[in-house]
Amino acid sequence: MAIDFKQRIASVKDFPNEGITFRDITPILQDGELYRAATHELAEYAKSRNADVIVGPEARGFIVGCPVATELGVGFVPARKPHKLPREVERASYDLEYGSNVLEMHKDAIKPGQRVVICDDLMATAGTLHATKELVERLGGEVVGAAFYIELTNLKGRSMFPDTDIFSLVKYD
Ligand code: IMP
Repeated sequence: MAIDFKQRIASVKDFPNEGITFRDITPILQDGELYRAATHELAEYAKSRNADVIVGPEARGFIVGCPVATELGVGFVPARKPHKLPREVERASYDLEYGSNVLEMHKDAIKPGQRVVICDDLMATAGTLHATKELVERLGGEVVGAAFYIELTNLKGRSMFPDTDIFSLVKYD
């Protein structure tokens, strides 16, 4: 039987700001079987895209992406908030559903031609995906897919990437 991941996502009204409904994945993470099942779904997707490496944006992209990488036996590369990485970085800025931010990746994190799947908990406006993809491409990688637990379809993030394959476990209008 298909697992109902949506039923295990908590929806919190007016967090972090009034008018925002925050989709909270921590109930999935707290349940070992469910976390493993969600990881497995994303890993199967990344495998189908022949991913060589998983990239995850800070911070929930680490929680989602790291176990996917270990299940597949491929590397994980973090896209981090500014001034966290100790060596030479590429940097890209992006707008969030609420606010804006900057992401950095080590310049030697991706080898030219590597096939990358980007993993994160949620796609809203897709600003985070846009910046992460830009960093991967500047380093010579190819983004062959993006995988999320949750996609907010009314924000139409997917339409920004007509040429990128996008997978999500759960969709909200
Ligand atoms: P985007 O850049 O607008 O697609 O926003 C996605 C990023 O913001 C992801 O890294 C999420 O972790 C975070 N985010 C935005 N809205 C939510 C939410 O409702 N729940 C959890 N994370 C969110």
